Formats: sequence, C-alpha cells, structure tokens
Amino acid sequence: SYRKGGYHAVRIGDPFASGRYIAQRKLGWGQFSTVWLAYDTQTSKYVALKIQKSAQQFAQAAIHEIEVLCAIADGDPSNSKCTVRLIDHFKHAGPNGQHPCMVLEFLGDSLLQLIRFNRYKGLELNKVREICKCVLIALDYLHRELGIIHTDLKPENILLFSTIDPAKDPIRSGLTPILERPEGGTLNGGSTMNIIEKKLKRRAKRAVANISGRRDSMGGAAAKPARCLDGIDMRCKVVDFGNACWADKRFAEEIQTRQYRAPEVILQSGYTFSVDMWSFACIAFELSTGDMMFAPKTGEGFSEDEDHLALMMELLGKMPRKIAVGGARSKDFFDRHGDLKRIRRLKNLPLDRLLVTKYKFSDTDAREFREFLSPLLDFSPEKRPTAQQCLQHPWLNLRSSDGKSKVDAGMSKLKI
Ligand code: ADP
Ligand code: MG
Repeated sequence: SYRKGGYHAVRIGDPFASGRYIAQRKLGWGQFSTVWLAYDTQTSKYVALKIQKSAQQFAQAAIHEIEVLCAIADGDPSNSKCTVRLIDHFKHAGPNGQHPCMVLEFLGDSLLQLIRFNRYKGLELNKVREICKCVLIALDYLHRELGIIHTDLKPENILLFSTIDPAKDPIRSGLTPILERPEGGTLNGGSTMNIIEKKLKRRAKRAVANISGRRDSMGGAAAKPARCLDGIDMRCKVVDFGNACWADKRFAEEIQTRQYRAPEVILQSGYTFSVDMWSFACIAFELSTGDMMFAPKTGEGFSEDEDHLALMMELLGKMPRKIAVGGARSKDFFDRHGDLKRIRRLKNLPLDRLLVTKYKFSDTDAREFREFLSPLLDFSPEKRPTAQQCLQHPWLNLRSSDGKSKVDAGMSKLKI
C-alpha cells in the first residue's frame, strides 16, 4: 500500500505543514489512512495526524470527512459533545502523491482495545453506563443538531480520553495515551523507544487494567480493587467520520461494519439515524459481556446475511412479516410468509436469559439491561428510541455496586 496513490511513509521526526507538526509514532491505521501522534510546535501539544492515501477516490473521501468534521467543530464551540475535534487540515506532498491530512485532538485507546485489555470479560456495568452516556451525547448531537448519520459506529471508532493533565498526574493520565498493542506488534518497532517512554507504557497499561476491572458477578474471581480511580469519569469520543453522511444526502446502500449492521440495511429497505442506535445497542452489549452481540458466519446452504438475520430473530424474536418482506433484498432471504428460506429451525434465547445463563448477570441486572437495550433493537427502525430519548432512560443512572441497584443522584449531575 506504500506506493503511488497509497499510504504516505512516515519516519519519526518528519515535519508536516512547513514544520508545525513533528511525527512521533504511529497510533493506528484504517483502510484509507495512517494516524500518527505528532507534536504541534505552535501550541506545544500532542495531536493526532491522520494522513490519507493520495489516490483520487481517497482524497475525495478525505475532503468529505473534513467537511463533516468542520460542521461538528462549528456546532460545538465548547468541545463538549463527545465527538473528535478537528484542529487543522492541509495537503502534504510526498513521493506517492498529494495526501490530505487532518489534525485531530489526540485521544486514547479505542473501546476495542479496552475490551481486549480486559480479556473479553466484559466491563463493570457502571463503566458501561458512563461510556453509553458519552456515545449518546455524541449521537444526539450528530442526529438532532447536525442531521448527520455516523453509519460506522463500532468499538474501534470510539476512543477513550482523559481530562487529567499528564504534567500533574502522569499515572492517571495514562488513561489517555495507551501505547502498546496487547497482541504483539508494536506499530512502529520498539527500538526507537527510550526508557522513559517504556515506563510510561507500563503505567498506561496498568491504568487501563484498573479501569476495566472485572464485574463482580463473574464467578467470584473479581480483580483486586483497582487503584483508586473513583472520580475519574470514564469518557470517550466518537471518531472516524469517513463514512458519515447527512441524512438528506445518503450515498451508500451498504453501510456499517457487519456485526453492527441494522436489519434494514441488510434488507435494503432504506435507513436513517436509527441505524446508529442499533449499532449503539450492539456496542453496549459487547462492552458488558466482552462478546459481539451478533457474529454471523456463512454456512452450508446459507449466506452471512441469512445467518445474521437468523441470529437476530433467535435473540429478539421473529421479525414482523411486513418488515421481513418489505426490503429490496427481502426475496433473497424470506418466503412470502416471512420465514427464512434456508434456515428453517431457529433456537430462541431471549436477551435477559442469555445475560443470566451465559454471562452470569444477576436477574435484576439482566432485566434492567434488557429493558434498556431491547427497544433499541426493534426491527421497526421508526420505533427505536432516539439518542435524546435514550439519554432519559433510568438505566443510565442506576448504580450496581453492592449487588443491589440504586439510583445515584450524583451521577445525574455528571457534567460532560
Ligand atoms: P479510518 O477512517 O482509516 O478507519 P480512523 O479515523 O478510524 O481512520 O483512524 C484509524 C485509527 O487511528 C483509529 O482506530 C485509532 O486507533 C487511531 N486514531 C484515530 N484518530 C485518533 C485520535 N484523534 N487520537 C488517537 N488515535 C486516533
Ligand atoms: Mg476507523
């Protein structure tokens, strides 16, 4: 991919925008871009530098993403809506062509990494609630104020951040820059790291292990009490607006990453903001259990799409016939009675039963969580609650600590 039209190769210390930004190390990458930690010499702050591939179609996509990011920044001058902030953008000329670059505020680990660090055990429900609140604030802002659908909401595209000043409290601020990938492969080779950076890495790792401590109900083997992290809000921001669109200017039929894809997208019956609410519910489930809610596979005699629809109906009940047969692709999957053509026998395991039997939730936790999630997973897109309605749901303000759930008045005053 590092050829004409592809990624721009970056070396540590490379200058960008006439020397304003200096590349430090790789933070991540996506289909279209690599993302680098860079030092902003003008503000003396670290930033994330997203460098797009140079070919025409990628450059076009970056221009669109910048447009969306500008709208997001313009509508939120106080930067309080849990969406990533665009600081600057420019073009960088390299041997592979002209690369559009976005300078973004520097955020931390993604929720996917958080789930991995926690060894797929699922986070404490109270942490899940905090994350859910942030994501809902972002979605409410995007949907209601800007008219934007994200269309690719998933754990990788939600990044943690901390408001703690690293100069004052380096250990706790380790919540922000998570510097190592747990499954091998540091991204830019370890050799350039100096000892101080390695120490910081270990601290950052410990900090994440602490915040994502096991749920007590996981068979008694609860993690040691974490270093006191009370009072630290677990906060996060939504990133990656490369696929976002204005609801009145949709361009793609096939949207969303497979596991987070809503049924109306599979059936091609048209979509709107509520596709993000479906993905949001899938993410909340995954955070609390460590498993994806739907992980469809192709099987003998059926496609991935069919398996996906079957999994949905096994967990959520039969899809109403009208919806099942109402999409442009319905005939590929359903007969005229609204039954799947090639997967005839469905098991039935309702959500709260699954939470109790497989994930060892208490009956109360399971019931409350189901009451929060299942409206978001309505097969009728227009019946799903909006992000604004969802923010009013009592589940967000419950506290499960000593086995009992109680409303914590303090939580509702949480300022984000
Ligand atoms: P793509 O559109 O190519 O998927 P993303 O915007 O999702 O690009 O960024 C790719 C990865 O780079 C993310 O998954 C994350 O690991 C990292 N990243 C992106 N933005 C930031 C940021 N603001 N701060 C820190 N890391 C980031
Ligand atoms: Mg991405």
